[in-house]
Amino acid sequence: MLNNFFNPKSIAVIGASRTPGKVGFDILRNIIQYGYEGSVYPINPSAGEILGRRAYPSLQDVPDKIDLAVVVVPSKNVLDVIGQCGAKSIDSAIVITAGFRESGIEGSKLEAELIGRAKEAGVRFVGPNCLGMIDTHSKINASFAAGMPAKGSIGFFSQSGALCLAILDRALPDEIGFSKFISMGNKADVSDIDIMLALAEDENTKVILGYIEGVGDGRKFMEVAAEVSRKKPVIILKSGITSSGAKAASSHTGALAGREAAFDAAFRQSGIIRVHTINELFNYAVAFANQPLPKGPNIAIITNSGGPGILAADACDKAGLQLAPLHKELVDELRTFLPPVASFYNPIDILGDSGADRYEKALNTALKDERMNGFMVLLTPTATVDVEATATAITDISRTIDRPILTSFMGKKSIDAASKTLTRYGVPNYSYPEEAVSAMDAMYRYNLWINRPEKTYSKFDGMKEKASQVFENAIREGRDRLAELEVHDVLHAYGFPQPRSLFARTSEEAVAAAKGIGYPVVMKIISPQIVHKSDIGGVRVNLKNKKDVENAFFDITTHVKNIMPAAHIYGVLIQEMVPKGKEIIMGITKDPQFGHMIMFGLGGIYVEVLKDISFRIVPLSEEDAHEMIRETRTFPLLRGVRGEAEADIEAIERSLLVLSQMALDFPRIIEADINPLLVQQRGQGVVAIDARFAIGGE
Ligand code: ADP
Ligand code: MG
Repeated sequence: MLNNFFNPKSIAVIGASRTPGKVGFDILRNIIQYGYEGSVYPINPSAGEILGRRAYPSLQDVPDKIDLAVVVVPSKNVLDVIGQCGAKSIDSAIVITAGFRESGIEGSKLEAELIGRAKEAGVRFVGPNCLGMIDTHSKINASFAAGMPAKGSIGFFSQSGALCLAILDRALPDEIGFSKFISMGNKADVSDIDIMLALAEDENTKVILGYIEGVGDGRKFMEVAAEVSRKKPVIILKSGITSSGAKAASSHTGALAGREAAFDAAFRQSGIIRVHTINELFNYAVAFANQPLPKGPNIAIITNSGGPGILAADACDKAGLQLAPLHKELVDELRTFLPPVASFYNPIDILGDSGADRYEKALNTALKDERMNGFMVLLTPTATVDVEATATAITDISRTIDRPILTSFMGKKSIDAASKTLTRYGVPNYSYPEEAVSAMDAMYRYNLWINRPEKTYSKFDGMKEKASQVFENAIREGRDRLAELEVHDVLHAYGFPQPRSLFARTSEEAVAAAKGIGYPVVMKIISPQIVHKSDIGGVRVNLKNKKDVENAFFDITTHVKNIMPAAHIYGVLIQEMVPKGKEIIMGITKDPQFGHMIMFGLGGIYVEVLKDISFRIVPLSEEDAHEMIRETRTFPLLRGVRGEAEADIEAIERSLLVLSQMALDFPRIIEADINPLLVQQRGQGVVAIDARFAIGGE
């Protein structure tokens, strides 16, 4: 679909200028200067000649077919130009011109009109408000960037033109190769999704890199990314942290979610490798573009100094990479050529007096261990080491193996030339060992992603039917929350065990209820105005006898009347006191772009402080449920510490899947949480102690 963006046989620059320094000049110059082999048509009202090319007063005056239009005219003329493109059967355009949505209300209107006009004219366009596009393989530099990257296999798209320039400038001195550079601008028409699909098809692109501030259609984005990321690594830097201000503040889930959680979950579920800095974006890109993936977590490190080796080892440990010693006979082999005070284990410290030959021998020995999935070579520029020769030895080895090698030659002045050699021959070199580890880890995780089995989705029958009535009533009555009893019914419909409960309006009724349920009991205030009951002293646990119940009833009701005189008190709920278990929270929230998400975390009153929670976008697969529990820092608590019994983790997983189904069944749920869900010992299930549901429009 985007064919003519990528391989145009002819390009028109509409708004080409004669004045150096003007964008309309720079773009034309870049196209010509960097060797574009197709035809170039400058369009300028005064015609004549620009940069040695015949110029035409308008598109219609060009006698030949044009594949791609680059539009640099003032914003007020862009719509007309797009119309003319259509008339000349040009189906692809890059609108460089600014002054659209980014500039305010008027600009937004103009952009909306532009979208309409382009549709009518049958023109797809990149931009507006962008830097242009570079394709190193067809030698097109239709941008006003200062320079042209080397030919390579990294395809980069960016919502920010400035970031394109920064990346380009960073890439130039090291001759880091790119296939395509696409500045997306306002993404009024061609979107990240279109570009991802196009780069996935592009045979010159091995790694897809993107900078985005937001996505349009979140669901579609995920779907496409999941498909593309199975074929090629997709590495994305996402900025723009905003709070979830628009959400109802009544539930924990809503307050905890935030937009970043949605992006994190979406990226993770679609196999996108998320980075948080430009440096990381770059570091990962060169690793993926140049080295094969490690097929497992086992890494061997060779270093000529202790400190960096330890730093790298620590970083591996945090990342989930493993450093095991080499096979015994290989350790013996190391002993034959390394000084006796060297370290023969992993990291292999070949000592500060090493030369290139020792590096080469040590690396070759390590390679003989087939269990090693990847290699890292660290170098501190000591007086004895021939840095250049070492670099050459490593690149020679790298060419012959199908396992990855990354290096960290530390320093600047004395390693500069070697670093260039490494880069040129496809061995990424990093300033610091941690960066090399982090890139290796990203490749390892990506390898897991592409090899993971298809996800499995469970389906639960007969639940929706039982809960429909409740939601219908609440919607019909225009309520935005479910009442206590309705919550009970919904949870019941979805198979959540709940403590036995009885409602009581008076002290006498409370005592009778407690007797019916059996001591000890819990008492909770019931009032439509009270959301968080214990915050205002509305929950009493462990009431052991009649006297406790009478006192509690008196205390709760007078206390609530005192501090919330306006609250309408219906009465109290008497509840069976559930034996102690682990308190967790789970819930549903709705993100404006990605839709429903499921949350999991440690429950109880510290949840908002610790924020130890994880999210997944609905529908959850069984694997998602499994992972999102294990992702939290408190997971070991569920496993049981210091002789505690293990909690029923399988029941938690199932509950998460049930909630996912509930969100699919009732799109009107905007927020829900169960807090706490009391988890019993393994095999004994969970009990939903307390829950809230907020509903809204479709
Ligand atoms: P709220 O969240 O509105 O303050 P909850 O119903 O969640 O009220 O009760 C607060 C806390 O009291 C719970 O987190 C839990 O620790 C404890 N609790 C409440 N009901 C029970 C029960 N039936 N059995 C055991 N503990 C309970
Ligand atoms: Mg609660």
